[in-house]
Amino acid sequence: MKTKILLKESEMPTHWYNVVADMPNPPTPPLDPEGNPVGPDALAAIFPEEIIKQEVSAERWIPIPEEVREALCLWRPSPLYRAHRLEKALGTPAKIYYKNEAVSPAGSHKPNTAIPQAYYNKQEGISKLTTETGAGQWGCSLSLAGQMFGLDVEVFMVKVSYGQKPYRRTMMRTWGANVHASPTTLTESGRKILAENPESNGSLGIAISEAVEIAAQREDTNYALGSVLNHVLLHQTIIGEEAKKQLELVGDYPDMIFAPCGGGSNFGGVAFPFFADKAAGKDVKLVAVEPTSCPTLTKGIYAYDYGDAIGLTPLMKMYTLGHDFMPPGIHAGGLRYHGDSALISQLYNEGLVDAVAVPQLETFQAGVMFAQSEGIVPAPESTHAIAATIREAKRCAETGEPKTLLFNLSGHGHFDMTSYDRYFAGELEDYEYPQEAIEQALAHLPKFD
Ligand SMILES: *Cc1c(COP(=O)(O)O)cnc(C)c1O
Repeated sequence: MKTKILLKESEMPTHWYNVVADMPNPPTPPLDPEGNPVGPDALAAIFPEEIIKQEVSAERWIPIPEEVREALCLWRPSPLYRAHRLEKALGTPAKIYYKNEAVSPAGSHKPNTAIPQAYYNKQEGISKLTTETGAGQWGCSLSLAGQMFGLDVEVFMVKVSYGQKPYRRTMMRTWGANVHASPTTLTESGRKILAENPESNGSLGIAISEAVEIAAQREDTNYALGSVLNHVLLHQTIIGEEAKKQLELVGDYPDMIFAPCGGGSNFGGVAFPFFADKAAGKDVKLVAVEPTSCPTLTKGIYAYDYGDAIGLTPLMKMYTLGHDFMPPGIHAGGLRYHGDSALISQLYNEGLVDAVAVPQLETFQAGVMFAQSEGIVPAPESTHAIAATIREAKRCAETGEPKTLLFNLSGHGHFDMTSYDRYFAGELEDYEYPQEAIEQALAHLPKFD
């Protein structure tokens, strides 16, 4: 009975998988505020050319540069685990596997895209990257990647997290980054938000506005996004490609795949390589798991909306709760985004991927059960996938079905002990985002279809 299923460094994938090649319909184009399609040129102020090419590519396989593979080898291929102890604790006939992305230096899947983004920017002569971060996982990942490729990194960290997660801040500084609590007075966007509400706790949407504004103004500076965009999901497909090879080694194939879904990058990363088989007729269910407090796929609407709070980004057709949605301060900071990847939104709209929302207390219960059976303390984001997997495994225990379940352990929770503490103290609550609040935010959507 194997516990860890490992690949050699030489077996690490050499190409990323582009799901666009297997989608039944071409992706919806991004639009400008007048409703015209945004060409690749418009993105050139803030992104390097190679990234823009990947953003619009329809090629099935895109080569991973050798320097990027060498950097990824610091922790990849990541292990696939068979969760024997969790299965036993649940008394389920289901087989549970998880891909452990917590083994990266930053503690999550996010360096999988931070590394290639830093690499392409460096190649094209850029000297500095700006970005936003919520819970701090993305800021850490880009700080690490900037350090590896010799780029300065400036991070706008959502103010509420800046206060809640001081050690993430310190980690970014350790990797040489410059970190601000957003909203700041350094940008027009930040000043505008502060004028309206001096007490603003910030949001990912606001921090994105600040980071994009600076990158757009400076020749030597570009912007890097940690989720949502096509190229980010592309870079994350290395997770699913490895998982597929690892399952092959033990002669298994998943019936269902679960991943937490914020902007969609780790869900796309683990699920898309299996979507290729699904498109070819294979029966595999791909389930995005989100919080009931930020129910983008399960309660949002499919419409064109901005990616940031101020409206500086192109409009993308996606499931959204409205770009001025203010998420409640739940503890899975990485899942508090108003929108979702356009690719995942389109596939969800076409019924090709599934979504489920899980309340906060159930996610912490699942996280604790996982830590007590498998030993690893999961990130609050990752506990969403664990909770949904546990629901299914319990269902299997009732029906006797020996399903094969795979979930992505997107990160560890070593910097989230305050959240676990509050859970143990009984201070956390379930929060159902009220329908009126969703409707209010949706009333401000730009109107295009
Ligand atoms: C950022 C993050 C997420 C959510 O982001 P996606 O782009 O949806 O993957 C999930 N888990 C962890 C640990 C994260 O850091």
